[in-house]
Amino acid sequence: MQGRRKFLKKTVIGAGVALPLAFTENSFGRSSGIKGPKPLVLSTWDHGMAANERAWEVLSSGRSIVDAVEEGVKVTENDLDNLSVGLQGLPDREGITTLDASIMKGDGSCGAVAFVRQVKHPISLARLVMEKTPHVMIVGEGARQFALAEGFPLEEEVLSEKADRAYREWKKTSEYKPVINIENHDTIGMIGMDDQGRMAGSCTTSGLAYKMHGRVGDSPIIGAGLFVDDEVGAATATGLGESIIRISGSFLIVELMRQGRSPQEACEEAVRRLIAKNKDIENIQAGFLALNKDGEFGAYAVHPGFNFARHHPGMKGMVDSGSYFKK
Ligand code: ASP
Repeated sequence: MQGRRKFLKKTVIGAGVALPLAFTENSFGRSSGIKGPKPLVLSTWDHGMAANERAWEVLSSGRSIVDAVEEGVKVTENDLDNLSVGLQGLPDREGITTLDASIMKGDGSCGAVAFVRQVKHPISLARLVMEKTPHVMIVGEGARQFALAEGFPLEEEVLSEKADRAYREWKKTSEYKPVINIENHDTIGMIGMDDQGRMAGSCTTSGLAYKMHGRVGDSPIIGAGLFVDDEVGAATATGLGESIIRISGSFLIVELMRQGRSPQEACEEAVRRLIAKNKDIENIQAGFLALNKDGEFGAYAVHPGFNFARHHPGMKGMVDSGSYFKK
């Protein structure tokens, strides 16, 4: 996917302050978490910067942390250059773009939608599932109907120019690879905390490119792509959804933190577990991002290339995650 390799470079920016070298990939060591003062917003990948900016604006205007994580990832859902989030994302193998999203608050409230078509902001629909229904997840046609009933406009089903070009290229071989590699995924997961320590998270994606029609990844599954508990912390995931679902990745990380691990240690343990439970690991990329209630955060991935955006008082910028395999 275009733009992915650029993540490897250390794009450390923010308020004129460079991140200390100790935060770069090589020394993002086992027990070295990073701590940020509250409030705090973290998001996966480069597109997390713009999303964090928006989340920050929302928080600064006095709105809640759940408003911030919803509004933040809407920026990515709207980004026409992004081929893995929103309706401009790469389609499934039938040429149809279907979206997955989830949202969760630290008090346990959560909502999700999966396999949704024509809805520009699945994260907002997920929020309404959380707030207006007795359910946690609504999928497919039901989610589309719920969107209509809630007054969401349904978008026309046409691929974006970029997605259409990529899909035509893929069709030449129609090689079906139900694995994700370092190049073809970019979900946004955002986790954050307000100045009172209340947490929330959001996760939204068009999922694995050229997936089977109906395939759902980890992102809308509470405990896999996202988990938040005010008593402990929050975690989100990106990468091959199947590998993350197999280990309930985000829930696992929060539970490890509950048992005393730092966010960094918990992310590393989740990656080791994922490696142990998945075959063909050379072709699987997955990354985790976690935050504990003290404002300490960490990240880790299977392969190099994962990074995340941080935003807290006095600091904003990208951080490269360490990885289990070094090259
Ligand atoms: N986790 C997403 C999925 O499997 C893909 C991604 O991270 O881009 O659907």
